[in-house]
Amino acid sequence: MKFTKKISQHKERFEKLPDKFLLKGGRIVDPAQGVDKETDLLIVDGTIEKIGSVDTANFDGEVQDIKGKLITPGWMDMHVHLREPGREDEETLETGSLSAANGGFTAVCCMPNTRPAIDSQEMIRYVSDRGEKFPVDIRPIAAVTKEREGKELSEMLELWEAGAVAFSDDGRVVASPEIMRRALEYSKMVGLPVIGYAADPVLVNGGQMNEGYVSTCLGLKGIPSVAEDMMVARDIMLAEYTGGHYHVAHITTARSVDLVRQAKSRGVRVTAEATPHHFTLTDEDVRSFDTNTKIAPPLRTEADRQAIIEGLADGTIDVITSDHSPHAWEEKAAEYIYAPFGIIGLETMMGLSFNQLYHKKILTLEQLIEKFAVNPFRVLGLTPPSVKTGELANLTLFDPTEEWTLKEKNILSRSKNTPFIGETFTGKPFAVINHKQRFISRL
Ligand SMILES: [Zn+2]
Repeated sequence: MKFTKKISQHKERFEKLPDKFLLKGGRIVDPAQGVDKETDLLIVDGTIEKIGSVDTANFDGEVQDIKGKLITPGWMDMHVHLREPGREDEETLETGSLSAANGGFTAVCCMPNTRPAIDSQEMIRYVSDRGEKFPVDIRPIAAVTKEREGKELSEMLELWEAGAVAFSDDGRVVASPEIMRRALEYSKMVGLPVIGYAADPVLVNGGQMNEGYVSTCLGLKGIPSVAEDMMVARDIMLAEYTGGHYHVAHITTARSVDLVRQAKSRGVRVTAEATPHHFTLTDEDVRSFDTNTKIAPPLRTEADRQAIIEGLADGTIDVITSDHSPHAWEEKAAEYIYAPFGIIGLETMMGLSFNQLYHKKILTLEQLIEKFAVNPFRVLGLTPPSVKTGELANLTLFDPTEEWTLKEKNILSRSKNTPFIGETFTGKPFAVINHKQRFISRL
């Protein structure tokens, strides 16, 4: 009862956007257009009416002074798990969209490892239609194989027709190279990527963390980095052979980053994403035995972490994603070897990225926004939102100087499994605008 009330309170943060809404003096950063300027932005009836100085003397709408704050195109997290249907105790499309909006996103793509899996037109429509109610677009990724069992291709063309934005068996590798080959061929016909979960299951073989010095010290069974490298190498070869588009999900090893870099230089259609936890933490953090360091693929070594950062800096890694993976409290409270893999991430994605990549001068503001607001759309063959006169307002408002600390009570995801509670960040999204609604973040 208490919980239901809590959710409805959060829902009130979605407000109808005022008919006339003036954002005064913000800094517009839109990398796709090469725009970086300080000015006013007027939204009338959900559409960007004017970019440029607006006199407020006779203005009859609502004005918000946002001097020193950023207006960017709405961000997308193209790799999240929203658990509906099947595990609504962990997350739903509704709580997932609250969490996404709180993290500054106006769009997410949800992975198909639900129960049942998103492998039918009905499931694709169910997910897309639900997203219409929120300022966060929920775009479904369809399963590569039926029930994600790796045995039989899903009806990929039908799934595309229904609105799938990519194909993936995420959480499981497509073990058969023949099925992966066909998947790349079909996806090429419709211009969508196949997102590959790269972990050879035979080599993973019940591993709990990265295989190396720390796993030996802790006596935990390791997952060797070559389990990822081999699959990335295989799928790059299949993409090269078929001409299909292979997108590497949450890349974690130095070797894989290098394989993608080399493939890109040969002109192979390969793109890649990395998560904030893989460029923030390492296997050393597992020494705490905090089950929130149990992640698949696992936290790797410092050398791998540095390679991911280099890959982000030189453009080898196109996109940052959270791999938001909610889990029930009691499951993560289990002993390390029995706890499930994964952590939530929507509400810390920009905080961690800003701390690790912007403040440490790895990426410029423009490069970072590109990995949040431009490249995810481009990887999926979609048009990114644009801060332009005449466009529907699809915006993320961000304060680059605000310091904030992650507190469990402020997390809007239904699950709280994150190792970053108590962490302090500089830079915070404070509102998103989409579908003529606005969501005020109170992180
Ligand atoms: Zn995932």
